[in-house]
Amino acid sequence: MIHVKKAFVIGYPIKHSRSPLMHGHWLKEHGIAGSYEPIEVSPEALPGFLDRIRSGEFVGGNVTVPHKEDAWKLVDFRDVDTDHLKAFNTLSQLATADGIAIYGQNTDLYGFLANLDQQAPGWDAGIDNAIVLGAGGAARAVAAALALRVSGSVRVLNRTADRAGALAADMPGRLEGHGLDSFASLAPDTRFVVNTTTIGMHGTRFDDLPLHLLPRDALVTDIVYVPLVTPLLADARALGLRTVDGLGMLLHQAVPGFEAWFGVRPEVTPELRAKIEATL
Ligand code: NAP
Repeated sequence: MIHVKKAFVIGYPIKHSRSPLMHGHWLKEHGIAGSYEPIEVSPEALPGFLDRIRSGEFVGGNVTVPHKEDAWKLVDFRDVDTDHLKAFNTLSQLATADGIAIYGQNTDLYGFLANLDQQAPGWDAGIDNAIVLGAGGAARAVAAALALRVSGSVRVLNRTADRAGALAADMPGRLEGHGLDSFASLAPDTRFVVNTTTIGMHGTRFDDLPLHLLPRDALVTDIVYVPLVTPLLADARALGLRTVDGLGMLLHQAVPGFEAWFGVRPEVTPELRAKIEATL
């Protein structure tokens, strides 16, 4: 009898997730007898659901809004490199002497960097300072990723400046917290800008973001990928700045989970990207 390995993506709601399409593509590509199903789980039901990994029913799965922070609290073992993000999106089985335990990690940090490395190889050479727009959940992973790669300051700018300050204080090092209105004064010596706010979704745009003050060789990226070319990216392109869209982050963050559950490291190919892009 073939043993079918089962994985999941849980959220509340979950029906708009593109993860089943991505993992289904890789399962088929590698001829793996496995499954990856979207399951709606309410916050109250989360602890009980996670026991289905410990019982061996699931090899693991992805966790999305609103469960990432609770997943970080509820796992048995935490990935040392992403523990400080206090939010996990990828869970897998860990065999211990006492039975199956749950291992948690945050793969958004990896996905953010892998997308840039694929779309703009060498992007981090010569980048000193970086601006992160936003200080929400995704901003934590992005700011931590940039702190690994840029040589100068990671400037977190948020509508609610206190929240940017709190994020910077939580991850001491080269992070600084500012209000969004500091963009004009910080832009002239910043060669990298990333949007992690929800602005851009449904074509929304920042009220006043003077991109023309950035150096001409600056790179602008967005982690919002619906639409693929957000107004921020369109404005940056119009000024002749380099841009990278956010769809690749979604694709790459899925790689470590698939490898942990099914034993094969999958590739983010143009074919996979086109398949997901067609659903946007
Ligand atoms: P979140 O925790 O709710 O944070 C939202 C952020 O947006 C906060 O910084 C908030 O500022 C800011 N914001 C919201 N409305 C604003 C407005 N009108 N003006 C200025 N700032 C505003 O959300 P999240 O989980 O970090 O997700 C943020 C975005 O990233 C979402 O669109 C999500 O889909 C996307 N994302 C993409 C990927 C990917 O793989 N590409 C991965 C993760 C997330 P305040 O603090 O002032 O409220």
